[in-house]
Amino acid sequence: MSESLSTVCVQGGYRPGNGEPRQVPIYQSTTWKFDTSEHMGRLFDLEEAGYFYTRLQNPTNDAVAAKIAELEGGAAAMLTSSGQAANFFAVFNIAGAGDHVVASSAIYGGTYNLFAHTMRRMGVEFTFVAPDCPDAELEAAFRPTTKAVFGETVANPALAVLDIERFAKAAHAHGVPLIVDNTFPTPVNCRPIEWGADIVTHSTTKYMDGHGASVGGAVVDAGRFDWNAHADKFPGLTQPDESYHGVVYTERFGLAGAFITKATTQLMRDLGSIQAPQNAYLVNLGLESLHVRMAQHNKNGLALAEHLAAHPKVAWVRYPGLPGDAQHELAKKYLPNGASGVVSFGVAGGRAAAETFMANLKLAQIATHVADARTCVLHPAASTHRQMNDEELAAAGIAPDLVRLSCGIEATEDLLADVDQALAAV
Ligand SMILES: *Cc1c(COP(=O)(O)O)cnc(C)c1O
Repeated sequence: MSESLSTVCVQGGYRPGNGEPRQVPIYQSTTWKFDTSEHMGRLFDLEEAGYFYTRLQNPTNDAVAAKIAELEGGAAAMLTSSGQAANFFAVFNIAGAGDHVVASSAIYGGTYNLFAHTMRRMGVEFTFVAPDCPDAELEAAFRPTTKAVFGETVANPALAVLDIERFAKAAHAHGVPLIVDNTFPTPVNCRPIEWGADIVTHSTTKYMDGHGASVGGAVVDAGRFDWNAHADKFPGLTQPDESYHGVVYTERFGLAGAFITKATTQLMRDLGSIQAPQNAYLVNLGLESLHVRMAQHNKNGLALAEHLAAHPKVAWVRYPGLPGDAQHELAKKYLPNGASGVVSFGVAGGRAAAETFMANLKLAQIATHVADARTCVLHPAASTHRQMNDEELAAAGIAPDLVRLSCGIEATEDLLADVDQALAAV
């Protein structure tokens, strides 16, 4: 039975049997007990599925990952300790030293650092292309060693919308998968797999948790990319793994299971970035109301963008859901339900005016966070990017007056009134 997304938000991933706990139990246990070492050995050899150590797998995490897989229309998923770990695992599972990845330049700053600096030190090369670059430039970015294409459905904080179909087509023409970070839209606003993405990642820290309670991430595999058709590019999935007595992931686990099983049994085993079961439980509580919260985030985001666009003390507004926005055509296609609660704008009068505006907000609170039930606001030039001068900010695509306001789920009229009184003080 195929259920609507709202029902999956509430009930997906965990269906208790007779006399079992109604809520997903928190398996607060590092280890599992076995009657014989021989039985445990079968698990170590991947001959039998089961739990033995929480660094690799835990039933609480698996229930929540199964819900996220269902929400995204994927075949399998895993939780990670953070969104950073999710993006690292998604890429490193198929690209190692000597390999290359094509990435959109409109991505989260933390992901850019991970790719351009840390993974480069590990020997993975990245070519960054603007999401709206000409076809010839996208085409020219590929190399024989390219193993994946990476982008963000809606970039944080640039709010550029990725043309997923276009990037998927380019990736597939070169025999590699498209990985999409779908943190900002969540599956309520966009399901990238339906547009051709092969792997979807999340920082569950944002809307999925939604209450600023736990840092976490998720990797979802559509289970559709044919690793065997490009076996020479992906030996890690199609050749024997010596660390598991020669198991071949695509043979043993099929296309639906190969990617996530390898990421769990190799990367989680060796790098240990598992999400705490307690945090997985909190993410699940968030997911139960995701569809209800996203509707209000979408409503508040659009109302604020429209309000700001008509306000004399506002220099400019960026919101993909706003008619006339440079991203609006893409938003209509990929975000028909709404464009989330995050709005970027400039206060007339520049950096100093932005600071006055921020200091006078009462309901919206200054925080290094987005996508939360409570409205939060950030002035990057004065906080996360304060080491940069105005020229460096411009190169990073961040105007000195840019304010990123993440609309929560409070009453729309209260939010607009707060913004109005803070603008009046400018
Ligand atoms: C926050 C964020 C991340 C990183 O996630 P953490 O949970 O903070 O590690 C990755 N991608 C996007 C789009 C984000 O907004």
